[in-house]
Amino acid sequence: MIDNLVRDNVKKLVPYEVKVYEDMVKLDANENNQLTGVFNKEIGKALLDLKINEYPDSDSSQLRRYLAEKLQISWEELVLGCGSDQLITMIINAFVGKGDRILTFSPTFGMYKIGGDLVEATTVSFPLKKDFSLDYDNFMDLVKEDKWKVIFLTNPNNPTGGIIPRQEIINIIETANAIVVVDEAYYEFYGESVIDLVGKYPNLIVLRTLSKAYGLAGARVGYGAACRSLMEVLYKVKPPYNVSNLSQLAARVCLENQELMEKSVEEIISQRNEMTRELTRVAEIKVYKSYANFLLCKIDGAEDLYNYLLENKVLVRYFGEEGPLANCLRITIGTREENQLVMELINEYFKND
Ligand code: PMP
Repeated sequence: MIDNLVRDNVKKLVPYEVKVYEDMVKLDANENNQLTGVFNKEIGKALLDLKINEYPDSDSSQLRRYLAEKLQISWEELVLGCGSDQLITMIINAFVGKGDRILTFSPTFGMYKIGGDLVEATTVSFPLKKDFSLDYDNFMDLVKEDKWKVIFLTNPNNPTGGIIPRQEIINIIETANAIVVVDEAYYEFYGESVIDLVGKYPNLIVLRTLSKAYGLAGARVGYGAACRSLMEVLYKVKPPYNVSNLSQLAARVCLENQELMEKSVEEIISQRNEMTRELTRVAEIKVYKSYANFLLCKIDGAEDLYNYLLENKVLVRYFGEEGPLANCLRITIGTREENQLVMELINEYFKND
């Protein structure tokens, strides 16, 4: 009976599967392992005064005011989400309907297409070049076509770690007759942003998250910045009370301790560069230049190395044998010890190969 009730397009969807392993060195989801437990004590202290019997500040107004000051934009140009995932869904719900078109590139973060599929939109994924850089001229030819509702640009990109230069992003925003979303989930590891332009371009939305650099993935807090008229639209589709008061509190504690995040980001960047050098020395591995907190590597027989790491209690991300990411592994930069362990295992694996 249920089968007859389910929408046809939902029948075709596949649930987003996240594997759960215990007791693993977890380097598969671009979290910040260097900040494990760092904010817990302060969050615990703040929890004692939390009125958890009450619904949260529905639009996270207090937190937005605090964040806006840090970002030097108006708090009315901000929206908070249960992770930036929720903001992606909200943007699609607000602007994209059945038969509409979304433009993005491939490979990139999967949630744009998943969100598009849910509303029966078509997502066009423009292939990145072999080295995973953007073929800007040809992409621009597509941008110029007047048929897109939303264009998603991920900068730095996940899972490749590559970037799009600021001027190219600006040209895309100025040319597109569509909403341009610049997903800056990994901004802190890169340092360049277009958030300063939200007041200037009425079609620009910038997305950020506390899940990566800030080490707060478990609390699910992301934010979006855009001009006020765009915000008015987004607030129409935002579910009420979408960020719990536990998460708002955790986010506040975390943002108040920004220096800890900054110190850890510095360390991660230095470790990332060191690991890039070390991996480049392994003849069997091609490592791509990354501006984020992970490294994408191409390896013949990547699945075997993935399984070897798994046997040794290290979990990385494997992308299967097909498509542009065939034989690729994505390794999150962890703590110094974790990174050393990964390098030891990889070197040992190829020595015995
Ligand atoms: N955007 C990108 C590019 C990501 O890689 C991720 C997480 N993998 C997200 C958005 C979603 O992050 P969150 O929902 O945790 O804020």
